[in-house]
Amino acid sequence: MQLAMTARLNPKLATGVLLVIVLVTIALVRYMSSNSSHEVTWTIINVSHGDRTGDAHLLQVPNGETWLIDTGFADLAEFMLVPYLQENNITRLDKLIISHPHRNHYGGIHVLLDAGISIGELYFNAPHPIPCANEDWAMGCDLEHVLSMQEYAVQFGVPIKSLEPNLVLSTTLNEVFSFRVLYRFDGNDTPAGITSINDTSAIMRMDVGEVSVLFPGDIGQQIGEYLSINGEGLDTDLLSIPHHGVSVSAPDSFFDRASPEIGFVSGLDSLWNSDRAARIKSYFDTKNIPVYVSDKYRAIRVEINNGSYEVYTE
Ligand SMILES: [Zn+2]
Repeated sequence: MQLAMTARLNPKLATGVLLVIVLVTIALVRYMSSNSSHEVTWTIINVSHGDRTGDAHLLQVPNGETWLIDTGFADLAEFMLVPYLQENNITRLDKLIISHPHRNHYGGIHVLLDAGISIGELYFNAPHPIPCANEDWAMGCDLEHVLSMQEYAVQFGVPIKSLEPNLVLSTTLNEVFSFRVLYRFDGNDTPAGITSINDTSAIMRMDVGEVSVLFPGDIGQQIGEYLSINGEGLDTDLLSIPHHGVSVSAPDSFFDRASPEIGFVSGLDSLWNSDRAARIKSYFDTKNIPVYVSDKYRAIRVEINNGSYEVYTE
C-alpha cells in the first residue's frame, strides 16, 4: 500500500524501489544456489594397514544425509574408521552401502553398530552360493558369515536392502545430485559366465552437477572387459580405482572407457609401488593422471561444488 501510494505520487522513486527489489532478489537467488545445497563431500577414510587393504568412502550429500560405502575389515574399522567418524561427530549413517560380500568391504558392520553408530538402511546383497563356494581360501567369500552379519544388523532394527542395476539412491531435495547403480552381476548368470565375487561388485556412479565419480568396487578382468565393450555411463571425472589398485582388477580398456582426471586407490602405497600393481600404475603414469593412495594419509577429502572439485588430504 505504501509503495502504491508512492508510485502514484512519484513514478521515478517507485521505479528505483522496484529496481532495488529486483537486484536484491537476483543476489539472493545467486547466493542460495551457490551455497551448500549443491555440495557433496566424498571422504576416502583409510582402512588399509600392514599388508591388508579395504575400502571406506564417506559421502555427505546435499540433504544433510551421511552415507558410507564399505567398512574395511572389522579390526581396521575399529581402529581406523570408527575413531574418524567419532572425531567428526558422525553418529548416524543414513545409508551403508556394501559394494560386494568380501570382509575387507563389509567386515566392520557390527563394529559400527557396537560403537553406537546408527544405520538407517543397509544395502548388502548376499552372494550367489555358486561363485561364493568357489572361494575356499581364508578371506574368500563366506555365505554363512554374510548372513550372520545381515542378521546382526536386523537385530539393531536396520532394514536390509538390495543393490540392483538402475537403482537410484539420490536424495530428493536436489536435482543436481544423483547417485545410482549402473551394474551389478550375481557372479553366476552373467554375460561373462561364472565370475569371481569381486566381479559381483556394484558399479555405482555419483553426479554432482558437472562432476562425476565412479565407484566400481573390486571389479576384475571378466566384468571389466565386458563393460569396456558394452558398458554405458562409465566416463567419469574422478575414479575410485578398482580392487585396491592391484593388476588383477579391470583391464586397461576399462580405464580407457572411464578416462578419469584423477584416480584414487583405497589401499597400500607399498602395494601400489610393487609389481602387483605395475600394470595399472604404469597406465596412470603414462597418461599423466594423478593418483592418490589412501594409506599415505588418514583420509582423502574431495569437496565437490558448482561444477568443480578440490582434493584435500588429512
Ligand atoms: Zn577389496
